[in-house]
Amino acid sequence: MLGSPGVGKGTQARRLAVETGGAPISTGEILRDAAARATPLGLEARHAMEAGRLVDDAVMIGLVRERLAEADARPGFVLDGFPRTVPQGEALDALLAERGQELDAVLCLAVEEDELVRRLRGRLECPVCLRAYHVTGLPSRDGVHCDDHPDAVLRPRADDSAEAIHRRFEEYRTKTAPLVESYTARGLLRSVSGAGSVDEVHRALLRELNLTPRVERT
Ligand code: AMP
Repeated sequence: MLGSPGVGKGTQARRLAVETGGAPISTGEILRDAAARATPLGLEARHAMEAGRLVDDAVMIGLVRERLAEADARPGFVLDGFPRTVPQGEALDALLAERGQELDAVLCLAVEEDELVRRLRGRLECPVCLRAYHVTGLPSRDGVHCDDHPDAVLRPRADDSAEAIHRRFEEYRTKTAPLVESYTARGLLRSVSGAGSVDEVHRALLRELNLTPRVERT
């Protein structure tokens, strides 16, 4: 799942994983969790993340290789936030070839930049499970605490400062946009508007993948 910062990749990837039964793998979440636990990976990644810069390709490729080796990812997975650069895309191709698997789809969510900045400024996360919320677009039930952790007060993400947001867009334009172009050239890219509500975008993604929503299947 590709797309600019704030486009809703995480929220949609999580729902798509439920629909498809694939393991949800968010590299941003893995890094935030590692940073919160101050592991060597977390300490290495924290600085780049808070500044809105991408973490080194070699670190990310090693991390995804390890994560994909876990049992839940064997049959299939939904990747959110990886690959993000051309070398990461090449590494994913190599990893998939080793596993005898192929990409079913490369989805790219698109939203106007003004709207993205508005979304990023209102973004909140649970300090315990790192689930993503938004002040107006995707509030928790009581607007203050995580739905799954009633004692946890939602907080803004550390990399959503104005400066870091600016840098993340720049990183997207210079490093991720060429990857999007290469998937387009290979005929793999499916672009979906991320402008509607969470449910509308979810249904548009399912249509693009020719999947029937789970509720309609049961
Ligand atoms: P995300 O939650 O996907 O927006 O990721 C948050 C931050 O984690 C990014 O701004 C990067 O600093 C870092 N990050 C996540 N995935 C990657 C990746 N594939 N390559 C490099 N940095 C990443």
